[in-house]
Amino acid sequence: MIVAHSNKGNFKLRCNQLIPNDSYLVTDKTIVIDLLNIFLEIYVADISIKRVSNHPRKVKIDTYVDCKNYNLWIENIELIERLANFVTEGDGDEWKLNIVPVEYEFGAQQLNFIDTQADNVSLLSGGLDSFCGAYHNEIENKNTLYCGYKTSNVDTSAINYVYSFLKSRIGIAGLRTYSKVGKNKIIYTQRTRTLLFFSLAIMTAVTEEIDIVNINENGIMTLNPSFQSRGATKTTHPKTISLYQNIINNVGIKVQLNHPFLFTTKGEMVNSLSIEYKRYIAYTRSCGRSMQDKRYDLSAKVSCGTCVPCLLRKISLAAYDLEEFDNEYEVTYVGNMNEEEYRSSLNYYTTFYQYINSGQIFSELDIKGKYYHETDYYEKTYEMLRKFSEEFEVFASKYIR
Ligand SMILES: [Zn+2]
Repeated sequence: MIVAHSNKGNFKLRCNQLIPNDSYLVTDKTIVIDLLNIFLEIYVADISIKRVSNHPRKVKIDTYVDCKNYNLWIENIELIERLANFVTEGDGDEWKLNIVPVEYEFGAQQLNFIDTQADNVSLLSGGLDSFCGAYHNEIENKNTLYCGYKTSNVDTSAINYVYSFLKSRIGIAGLRTYSKVGKNKIIYTQRTRTLLFFSLAIMTAVTEEIDIVNINENGIMTLNPSFQSRGATKTTHPKTISLYQNIINNVGIKVQLNHPFLFTTKGEMVNSLSIEYKRYIAYTRSCGRSMQDKRYDLSAKVSCGTCVPCLLRKISLAAYDLEEFDNEYEVTYVGNMNEEEYRSSLNYYTTFYQYINSGQIFSELDIKGKYYHETDYYEKTYEMLRKFSEEFEVFASKYIR
């Protein structure tokens, strides 16, 4: 338990809700607790502040940092606001942060984690991409500590299913899961949630003296162009990762965020799995609707089959004849043009495909050299988009009449 002392009195920090009771935080590295506080307050504001008839919101929040680190955070406040603006730009939100210096008081009951000897922390969402990431960790002989956040019952059961498979594999140093924050959601969103995941993974890495955090997401979902209309999430966009990396570098956190599948399609990721892993695909979840629709908020075996993530999953598996390994969908591979969401998702990927083939796509991607480590990022991105367009053609030939 961490209590904050401020000149307005003492209070329990919200981050206590996420951290299991028996976990230990390195008290001389309070900078990672600050990082968590900042992105947790952004996330909580994002899910709980109403939007008035689709107007952009002006969000002003207080967030708490160790008074010793106050000046460092003040120097980075604009960068953090830019990052929050960027990931919510689909809705035009504008963020203002007020950094409040406090003194942390740590409870006595904290225990030390067992020393894991891991060489990387990898995010584990229960989704298919992080599962593919786990396979690559294994074949690259990495020793991985997985880090998950239990947002919903569906996520929690998917993380548990995936981990029950992974823990029998080699190179698994353990799983750290963090609990859901106690706040009623008015807005269902993944956007700022991922920034919170990064902070939890970075806190885990620093606590366990690991200097790499792997974000295993496919390159297509990462770029996620909006095509004017759709408020697409930018949570693992190269610009997001680059801004986040700048922030943690500036405040002296020595952790490298890696994005190993930035130039890989989801189809390629799934196709590269061994047969043992492929047989477990059905236990992973990609569906975005499960977050917001009560029907799916159980340990559901069935995904909607209509949302953008469900459709990308179908395209990716269909492209390599892997449908037999997939989970069940309410709207199957064949599709249903009477379903509004299905039509809209199919329209999204059809537009994506047309933009790739007409060469217009790069004007939609918002990518710049400074967001990348690779000098040939443009060629690699182009290569990946060509691959995706081929995958879409296979899917279309099978399932679009
Ligand atoms: Zn879905």
